[in-house]
Amino acid sequence: MSSISASSLASALLRQEVLDLHAYHVPDSSGYIKLDAMENPYLVPSELRGEIAEAVAAAAINRYPDPGASALKEKIREVTDLPEGMGVLLGNGSDELIQLLAMAVNKPGEVLLSMEPSFVMYKMIAIFTGMRYVGVPLAADYSLDISATLAAIKREQPALVFLSYPNNPTGNLFSADDVAQIIQASPGLVVVDEAYYAFARDSFIPHLARYPNLLVMRTFSKLGMAGLRLGFLAGSSAWLEQLEKLRLPYNVGVLPQLVAGKLLDHHEVLLQQAEQIKLDRTKLYRQLSEIKGVRVYPSEANFLLFRVANAGTIFNGLKQRGVLIKNLNGGHPMLTDCLRVTVGTPAENEQFIAALQETIIQSA
Ligand code: PMP
Repeated sequence: MSSISASSLASALLRQEVLDLHAYHVPDSSGYIKLDAMENPYLVPSELRGEIAEAVAAAAINRYPDPGASALKEKIREVTDLPEGMGVLLGNGSDELIQLLAMAVNKPGEVLLSMEPSFVMYKMIAIFTGMRYVGVPLAADYSLDISATLAAIKREQPALVFLSYPNNPTGNLFSADDVAQIIQASPGLVVVDEAYYAFARDSFIPHLARYPNLLVMRTFSKLGMAGLRLGFLAGSSAWLEQLEKLRLPYNVGVLPQLVAGKLLDHHEVLLQQAEQIKLDRTKLYRQLSEIKGVRVYPSEANFLLFRVANAGTIFNGLKQRGVLIKNLNGGHPMLTDCLRVTVGTPAENEQFIAALQETIIQSA
C-alpha cells in the first residue's frame, strides 16, 4: 500500500463524476469592495449586536444544539407567514437542502431538471449525487421557454425540478403562470428556490397547499445572515417528515440557532435593509443603463446582470481598482460577456460605477 501515491489511490477509488468535477470556486476577496456574492452589505445596529454578544457569551456551546431547533423554527413560521398545515425543515444553508433533496429522490437514472443559465449548484449536486442532470435553456430574454420546458418534462419525467425564483444569475422573476404550469405538468417534486425573496414581488409560499408536489426553499443568506448558514424548506408535513430522516441530527449549530433567532426577533430591521437595497438597485440599474457599451438586465434580486464588450477586461479593470464582482463569461453560452454585481451600500455602488466608467474609457 505504501508504494502507491495518494493521488493515484484517489483516482482509482473516487467515482469518475467526482474526479471530473471542478470545486465551486470562491475567490479571495480580502481588501476588495466585495460585490461578488449577493451578501447584504449591512450589519445590524450596534445595540442589537451587543444583545447578541451577551446571548452568545451565555450560550451552552459545550452541548449539542437542539436537534429539532424548535424555537428557531417557530420564529421562522411567524416571519414567513406559513399557511396552515405547512412546516419547515432547516438546512446548513440552502445548498445543503439541495443535496438532501437529491439524495432523497435519487434512484438509478433519475433526472434532476433545471433551467440554464441558473444556479450552478443544481447541476453540480445532481452530478455528485449520481443523478442525471437535464438543463433546459431559457429564452433569449432569460424568461422561461415554457414550451421547451414542458416538452423536456414530458420526455425526461424528472424526479426533481429546481426553479430559482428570482433566477440567479440573471436576476429576473419568471412568470408565475409559467411556474404554475411547470408544477402541474411535473410528475416529480418541484422546488421553487426563493433565495432572493426579500427583493422580489412574488412568492409561492401562499400557494403551497394547492400543489402536492411543491416545496419552497429559502435562505437567510441574502437577508444579512450569510455567515450563519441557514436555509429552509417549506411544505407539507407529509414531505418534510420523510425528508427529516436525511437531515443530519445537528446540522444547525447552537450559535446559528441562537443568533438567527435574535435577528428574526428584529425581522423588521432586516426587511428595512432589503428595502434600502431595492431602492439602491433601481438607482444602480439606471446608472448602468446610462453607460455606453453596457446592457443591463431587469432584476428582482439584490444583484444586477450586465453585458459589456469584453467581460474579462472589464472584470480585471474593476479588480485593479479594488472592486470584486462576478465574471460569468464562459460559464454558459447565454452568459457570454456577462458580469454580475451585487447591490452594495450607496458608497460601494458609487465606487463600482466610477471604477466601471474608468475601466470602460481605458479599454476603449
Ligand atoms: N439558491 C440560489 C438561487 C442561490 O443563488 C444561492 C446562493 N448563491 C443558494 C441557493 C444557496 O444559498 P445558501 O447556501 O447560502 O443558503
